[in-house]
Amino acid sequence: MRFIKGKSFIVSGPSGVGKSTVLNELLQRNKNLYFSVSATTREPREGEVDGKHYHFIGSDVFRGMIERDEFLEYAEYVGNFYGTPKRYVDEAMDQGRDVILDIEVQGATQVCTKRPETVRIFIAPPSWEELERRLTARGTDTPEKIQKRLLRAKVELETADDYDYFVINDAVEEAVAELEAIMCAEHCRPSERIDLIAGK
Ligand code: ADP
Ligand code: 5GP
Repeated sequence: MRFIKGKSFIVSGPSGVGKSTVLNELLQRNKNLYFSVSATTREPREGEVDGKHYHFIGSDVFRGMIERDEFLEYAEYVGNFYGTPKRYVDEAMDQGRDVILDIEVQGATQVCTKRPETVRIFIAPPSWEELERRLTARGTDTPEKIQKRLLRAKVELETADDYDYFVINDAVEEAVAELEAIMCAEHCRPSERIDLIAGK
């Protein structure tokens, strides 16, 4: 498909709902998609690669980036800071690539204030029990952290109504198919296509 300029898509949802799993599959299937790698002050989990999953940086470096206005948005989440470096997002969109931002709800609000054309997708679990099961099964957080993330999840779910789309991650394949359908539909809006008509 021909795009004049890429679009940006925010994907938010409770920790442990499966955002990374679903997005990983989506990115495997759509090589032209660009995943915005966030900066974070949190410690890497086992298997996480610096520069691929996150840019793992210290608080001083994070503060420096805030001062130089290098973030599109940033927020505090359960004791750590997370932010989206602006430059790479803009470069990818200028190249006609769609961009995925995996960010929590405060960051999503900041992006949409600055860039209202951004499409917001909320990913929800099939049930709270299943969310707790996935967080526990992932084995990366202490029981205390899991409880904090579950509390935060309840607050996050209350904001889901502000989003453009709501995807329930029951089966990964189906969630990926719904994300692809949403992205396709967003590119079929008249505003996206009218200038592509030959001879116009
Ligand atoms: P998030 O990025 O939202 O924090 P992850 O992608 O790390 O969540 O997934 C949390 C855990 O749930 C992982 O162990 C993952 O394998 C599992 N998981 C993700 N999606 C599903 C699904 N649809 N069904 C069952 N387990 C899933
Ligand atoms: P985790 O520690 O589980 O990787 O991420 C915790 C939360 O931070 C998730 O909800 C994730 O979407 C969010 N997050 C990741 N990167 C960013 C970012 O750059 N900005 C904001 N605001 N949230 C982020």
